[in-house]
Amino acid sequence: MPFWRDIKGTVQPFWVTLRNMFRKPVTVQYPEQKQVPPPRYRARIVLTRDPDGGERCVACYLCSAACPVDCISMQSAELPNGRRYAAWFRINFARCIYCGLCAEACPTWAIQMSPDYEFGKYAAIDMVYEKEALLVDHGGKDTEYNYYRHAGIGVVNPRGGNEDEEPPVDVRTNLP
Ligand code: SF4
Ligand code: SF4
Repeated sequence: MPFWRDIKGTVQPFWVTLRNMFRKPVTVQYPEQKQVPPPRYRARIVLTRDPDGGERCVACYLCSAACPVDCISMQSAELPNGRRYAAWFRINFARCIYCGLCAEACPTWAIQMSPDYEFGKYAAIDMVYEKEALLVDHGGKDTEYNYYRHAGIGVVNPRGGNEDEEPPVDVRTNLP
């Protein structure tokens, strides 16, 4: 019946308003009040350090390959002892969608998502962060992990000279 339908349509919105008038407000008066996001919240990305204070990033490009919006770029370099590092490392946060795929792809725990959400800027160009701004002086979510203690440094002379590493097998000694 159109008459009752119209009555219901008129009363129902008032009923919804009345019900919600006595509910506890959920509005947060930001920035006076700040919510603390959970530790796994995905906001600003950081580059972390290992327990020895060294840069964890080995400039393997896996994070930039995994990034769906191509907002990570870098240039790899190598120290005389074979240890790789990023000569420069850049993230364009204006393009980042905070999906966390870069952190998932990283084999060294170098790149991590942090819950720091307060880094908005007026100009998009200011959202381009260089390595100096990304590097932090702690290990992030895993302070103990040290990639080089597990994997050794890539190339040392003589080969197999890293700590906990054995010299390579001379295949000629296996010949009959
Ligand atoms: S969080 Fe996602 S979009 Fe942002 S840099 Fe990492 S992979 Fe790219
Ligand atoms: S942050 Fe991780 S994944 Fe990205 S280049 Fe460095 S080591 Fe590789």
